[in-house]
Amino acid sequence: MSGGTVGRGSPQERVVRCVLGDVPADRLGVVYAHEHLVLDSPLIAAAFPHILLDDVDAAVAEVGACSAAGVGTMVDAMPCAAGRDAVRLATISEKTGVHVMAATGLHHVRYYGGAHWSGRVDPGELAALFAADVRDGIDAFDYTGPFVRRTPHRAGIVKVATGERPTARDRLVLEAAALAHLDTGAPVLTHCEQGRGGLAQVETLTARGVPAEAILLSHVDKVVDRAYHRELASTGAYLEYDQGLRRPEDTARLVAWMLEDGNGDRIVLGTDGARRDLWHSLGGGPGLAWLATGFRALLRERGVDEADLRRLQVANPARALALRRSASVL
Ligand SMILES: [Zn+2]
Repeated sequence: MSGGTVGRGSPQERVVRCVLGDVPADRLGVVYAHEHLVLDSPLIAAAFPHILLDDVDAAVAEVGACSAAGVGTMVDAMPCAAGRDAVRLATISEKTGVHVMAATGLHHVRYYGGAHWSGRVDPGELAALFAADVRDGIDAFDYTGPFVRRTPHRAGIVKVATGERPTARDRLVLEAAALAHLDTGAPVLTHCEQGRGGLAQVETLTARGVPAEAILLSHVDKVVDRAYHRELASTGAYLEYDQGLRRPEDTARLVAWMLEDGNGDRIVLGTDGARRDLWHSLGGGPGLAWLATGFRALLRERGVDEADLRRLQVANPARALALRRSASVL
């Protein structure tokens, strides 16, 4: 918990914690801010086979295509004990040259089951586990068993999920995320169910000391409502748009509205590409690289200029994803 806060430092001094090591925030290149490169748990295999991502070779091909399209960094959004694999993420990063950020935190309760340990401990205990992933390395067993074996691959972001209205469990997890942020300075990436619940998440996290600009709200472009997006942006949090592969016209319209409203510095982009049928390498489409090619072209057609594209893809994520504590104290 000792000093070293770098929140006021220049972007050049700030780093993003990736699985192969810390990367200066101004060296990320084009960032995909909410990705799924590995999703492999018994529960996913049984209940959600359409999102099972267990093939490193396929991921290397998919991420390699993104690299060829100019992508420099991808944030893997799978938190603890629900299908994350730090070692495989590191292999994908090594083989493609793309920086990969891994997450700690907890996903929606549907990825665990009712009696899971994550709902039976207090926020301080959860926060200590999250902080250890950031500081010491992600558990090779992904907190699924009685043994914890730290890998050299550290988490750089805290991922949490809530329902449209936070449940008691959701509030416990948000509290833990806030404590882990205060301890490590890692930014907080949230899952907004059906794009909703973002305001309650920001209120809860900021009330516990997380600066709004360290919060990224995922999936909010599922809600095509300009007033909602203005309100979210007014909090100072980042809005992570990730429906571009599924509903490109809606997401492009929201981007245009946000730019018109003067909120271009609050948006980051991702694919949330968890579905097998979105991956080229698994026989689907349009492929994760399309965000950097086809969707980019669509935004250009809608009048988004190169400078704004760089804000959305490079400058905004560099600010949003940086550790807010000196890496040397972590
Ligand atoms: Zn996701």
